[in-house]
Amino acid sequence: MAVARAFGRSSADTKRREAERLAALEQLDLLDTPRDEGFDRIVRLIKQIFTIDIGLVSLIDAHRQWYKACSGLSADEVPREDTFCRYVVDYEEAIVVQDATADSRFAHHPAVTGDAHIRFYAGVPLRTREGHIIGTVCAIDRRPRSFGAKDLAILEELAGAAMDRIELLQSAATDSLTEALTRRAFKQEADQLISLALRHQHDLACIVLDIDHFKSVNDTHGHAAGDEVLRAVAETCKANLRVGDLFGRLGGEEFSIVLPHVDREGAISVAEKMRTAVSSQLLRGDYGALNVTASFGISSLSIISKDIETLLAQADAAMYRAKHQGRNQCVSWSTIRPDHAAGSRRRVLKAGTILFNDRRSTIDCTVKSLGEDSAALSVSNSLGVPSEFVLVIKGEGFETTCQVVAQDRQNLEVAFRF
Ligand code: GH3
Ligand code: MG
Ligand code: MG
Repeated sequence: MAVARAFGRSSADTKRREAERLAALEQLDLLDTPRDEGFDRIVRLIKQIFTIDIGLVSLIDAHRQWYKACSGLSADEVPREDTFCRYVVDYEEAIVVQDATADSRFAHHPAVTGDAHIRFYAGVPLRTREGHIIGTVCAIDRRPRSFGAKDLAILEELAGAAMDRIELLQSAATDSLTEALTRRAFKQEADQLISLALRHQHDLACIVLDIDHFKSVNDTHGHAAGDEVLRAVAETCKANLRVGDLFGRLGGEEFSIVLPHVDREGAISVAEKMRTAVSSQLLRGDYGALNVTASFGISSLSIISKDIETLLAQADAAMYRAKHQGRNQCVSWSTIRPDHAAGSRRRVLKAGTILFNDRRSTIDCTVKSLGEDSAALSVSNSLGVPSEFVLVIKGEGFETTCQVVAQDRQNLEVAFRF
């Protein structure tokens, strides 16, 4: 029935549904946000109620499935095409696979044939009030099992609880771990400060910072120590700010700052003060003593960068450059693009394709922001992406040659070549 419904739809219809779905996901601004105890609890409940190995709350964007909460799997995300969950999005309804080896869609899937040894999968949609499926809530096991109507009803209740949590988080202004503004609140307040700065023609600057090699802190000392470090770094940064400045948590170990009445040079010196304070701080706890550094990117208000998305995109690109140059340093956007200033950006969430090798090789990506001469893309792994490629946005006739300006493991900042 599900298959008939999905296939009964015209391709234009499917494209429109997908575009609306991505717009709904973008509106929520939840991708790559920090861990949240509410979702972790739902995942624990899934494991306890069904006595199974793996529980997930995930969001699915144009190119990947990203785990908002996950227990029993090591990855944070997987390419969308490799997932069981993409069928939940495509069919727009729950899917139960009692034994994957007996299901032709999944029997030859690497997660089934390989070490992961997945056998059982039940996934229900995370559906917004408007009916858009932004992700899934799943129960997964390494043994086949039966899953009755009552079980499915419970999983659907848990998806409802996850959706309630998502709605609640929309109104949260601060992050519970670090007390920084949430990404959403940060952007809202930043927009107001920017409007004021433009109206009264005063300076304003933006800083993005990301803790270096933070994954190894978690891996070596455990997640609780990682949380302590996040709190301490946030404290140190705030200690170097003034009352009217904004301090937000953009994602896991990435923070953002808006400094009103401060120009680019001023922001560079603030960032440099923070960088020194973070790197010279010795953190002590149950894990012993440790020390972290962070990389900083700086951008400032100008005639072409006068919205928070553009400022963040520029500061982000500068921060990637700081990582690339060896980390524990501050880089200003203006120094990486002196000849080619980026125009303003629109925040989008669109499915894109990276073509290279005479168009023989393709990599799916998500276009995160788009301007007249540049864009920010995210990919599952940027390692295989060459420094120049063709970017295509499906169904929009958009096709442009791009030059990579800065990158990290999953993000690419590109300039268009005309
Ligand atoms: P780089 O220097 O390139 O930034 O390397 P990195 O290791 O800092 O970056 P990467 O993005 O590979 O790893 C970030 C890690 O942060 C992975 C993720 O599990 C962890 N993380 C994200 N949010 C939290 C959190 O709230 N608490 C803890 N303890 N860890 C978190
Ligand atoms: Mg980092
Ligand atoms: Mg990071």
